[in-house]
Amino acid sequence: MKQLFSALDSYYSEMVEIRRYLHQYPELSFQEVNTPHYIANYHEKLGLDVKRNVGGRGVTARLTGAHPGPVVALRADFDALPIQDAKDVPYKSTVPGVMHACGHDGHTATLLVLAKALTEQKDSLHGSIVFIHQHAEEQAPGGAIAMIEDGCLDGVDAVFGTHLWAITPTGRIQYNEGPLMAAADRFELEVQGKGGHGAEPHDTKDAIIIGSQLVQSLQQIVSRRTAPIDSAVVSIGSFEAVNAFNVIADKAKLTGTVRTFDPGVQKRVQDEIQRIADGTALSTDSSIKLTYEKGYPAVVNHTDEARLVASTLSEVEGVDEVEHRTPIMGGEDFSYYLQHRKGAFFFTGAQHPDVEEPYPHHHPNFDFDERAMVIAAKSLAAVALHYVGADAKVSV
Ligand code: MN
Repeated sequence: MKQLFSALDSYYSEMVEIRRYLHQYPELSFQEVNTPHYIANYHEKLGLDVKRNVGGRGVTARLTGAHPGPVVALRADFDALPIQDAKDVPYKSTVPGVMHACGHDGHTATLLVLAKALTEQKDSLHGSIVFIHQHAEEQAPGGAIAMIEDGCLDGVDAVFGTHLWAITPTGRIQYNEGPLMAAADRFELEVQGKGGHGAEPHDTKDAIIIGSQLVQSLQQIVSRRTAPIDSAVVSIGSFEAVNAFNVIADKAKLTGTVRTFDPGVQKRVQDEIQRIADGTALSTDSSIKLTYEKGYPAVVNHTDEARLVASTLSEVEGVDEVEHRTPIMGGEDFSYYLQHRKGAFFFTGAQHPDVEEPYPHHHPNFDFDERAMVIAAKSLAAVALHYVGADAKVSV
């Protein structure tokens, strides 16, 4: 491990170079062409077994060790966002309106250089490492599900991944046993009432009144129908019913989001929204249509693998602290890998010590501490090698 770590230290400048190159040429979800090409070429030069166009635009590369053992997959995403880069740095995006504003360029550079360092250690490697480079994380339905259906997890025993986290100091790792990120769903309620003159309300079915009733009733799903110990969010983000001051609206449209960690709670919230829609329609003699779109499921770490992260990473150089964190309500399609294989996802702090108030992810000024890429690479390596090592000993 020592040799691997010093190799990763010595490749830091290459990591930065790759990251800055990708940063200048970002590509949107489901439109990635050059990025997967670049990734596949890099792995091919290392002599790995490369598959292109996995599940669409994904790339996988397999490193087979000299000794038998388990197969561990490490995943990095590589898509960018529809945001105009506002940073004043030499490596700012050259593509108008497109930017790596979530650090996926860093994930890619980390995994590529880690593949290079691990390939050099092939003779002592037990088992195999599959490098999963995933397209389209930022946009549902995401690239993960298609890559899995196309076999990226075939023969894989466990899967690990990390997200560079620019709002957590460099040197800090955050993880959780169980849920780490939420299921993020979207819903829409369309109210069809009956419009009319503002002076003759008794002849109408006022869509604004009906919509208001829906807003009020929906608040009770969390406060009165979900156990206090369970986590759920129901938020209405828009309520449209445009009309003149003296006209009663015939239509209203509400949109909102539901965030949960447990599929049972998620199902109950969805059922409650439907029940409220049906009940309100009945009592107001209107029609209300619910459209409920499920986003990514919750990222739920497997206990043993999350514990492996905690125990191995506390010994990785550059890691000052490994902390348990409360789950965040944001979503990630790493969830699908964890539904199919054991594994864990964790955050690698990437807030530069000189930056007091970092810009959040998805902000036009977003940037991260590039030194965190080395920590991320060492962390993924440590987890993977402990995993293959530990199981190899058992199976021998
Ligand atoms: Mn991201």
